[in-house]
Amino acid sequence: MLTDTYGRVATDLRVSLTDRCNLRCTYCMPEEGLQWLAKPDLLTDDEIVRMVGIAVHELGVTDVRFTGGEPLLRPGLVGIVERCAALEPRPRLSLTTNGIGLRRTADALRAAGLDRVNVSLDTLRPEVFHTLTRRDRHHDVVAGLAAAADAGLTPVKINTVLMRGVNDDEAPDLLAWAVERGYELRFIEQMPLDAQHGWQRTDMVTADEILDRLRTRFTLTTEGETVRGSAPAERWLVDGGPATVGVIGSVTRPFCRACDRTRLTADGQVRNCLFAREESDLRGPLRSGADDERMAELWRAAMWGKKAGSGLDDPAFLQPDRPMSAIGG
Ligand code: SAM
Ligand code: SF4
Repeated sequence: MLTDTYGRVATDLRVSLTDRCNLRCTYCMPEEGLQWLAKPDLLTDDEIVRMVGIAVHELGVTDVRFTGGEPLLRPGLVGIVERCAALEPRPRLSLTTNGIGLRRTADALRAAGLDRVNVSLDTLRPEVFHTLTRRDRHHDVVAGLAAAADAGLTPVKINTVLMRGVNDDEAPDLLAWAVERGYELRFIEQMPLDAQHGWQRTDMVTADEILDRLRTRFTLTTEGETVRGSAPAERWLVDGGPATVGVIGSVTRPFCRACDRTRLTADGQVRNCLFAREESDLRGPLRSGADDERMAELWRAAMWGKKAGSGLDDPAFLQPDRPMSAIGG
């Protein structure tokens, strides 16, 4: 198992399939994009499947989420999903995507064995979408969401980041829209993981503010199955349910004590935390012929040193060198 010195066990693996993206969300990367990883540095499809296999067979990982950058840009995605779905025991497989291209790929992904998707959508207004992402692709994301639901990639979850003065007036509208369509909305507090290092705590729309805004239109209650557990999202029943809304307060309501994550970057580095400043190179040993047992040992060692918390509240906090898009969000 992947345990650490605080007794946490990582069973949820995030795999970044690429650091590239076709959007330029302002809270993630600059308009001109980033220096992308060179192709030889990326794990190949075979290497990714092997790493996921080691995680599942040797290390007790039960859930695998593909992310990026934009994972739909990875040419071999459907094949990777299919091969991971064939692992025994079969892990639950999900994908975090900006939704562009999902209309074309949702059926194939479902057929390959993908269980669910999280689609990121921050606004219902196309012009605000352009301000936030610097691209005119709002329609594609909305169509991608519908295609995911039609393909049975359910429950379809939506990830929303609110930016002050841009889309923070939309929280109740977004929730009404999502509930009407059967999507599960989750708001994520903006984190200091942007490539430009422009995050300011005072600008961040906090979990409390989000809840206050939602309560102007909805009754939110915490009952029954909305218990948080190791899930980062605190969930509320909307107007008595069954619809729910989640708020991921990574900054103001951290869930580090219950964290069950381990991460693999597109270039084969294991990270034990989104905010870690160290990574463990597993691509080198993988390419030098290490067997599964040795790889598992290195992965365990990488997780053992996981810190107690993100360190966000420490005045000496330093952002990791790599931004969210390169780590895998
Ligand atoms: N491109 C895909 C997408 O946007 O869903 C997958 C990668 S993206 C980095 C994963 C999630 O991280 C998205 O929901 C995005 O909104 C969120 N995200 C990116 N930068 C963030 C930041 N600085 N703070 C909070 N969430 C962020
Ligand atoms: Fe791309 Fe996702 Fe970052 Fe937006 S949040 S720029 S869609 S990687």
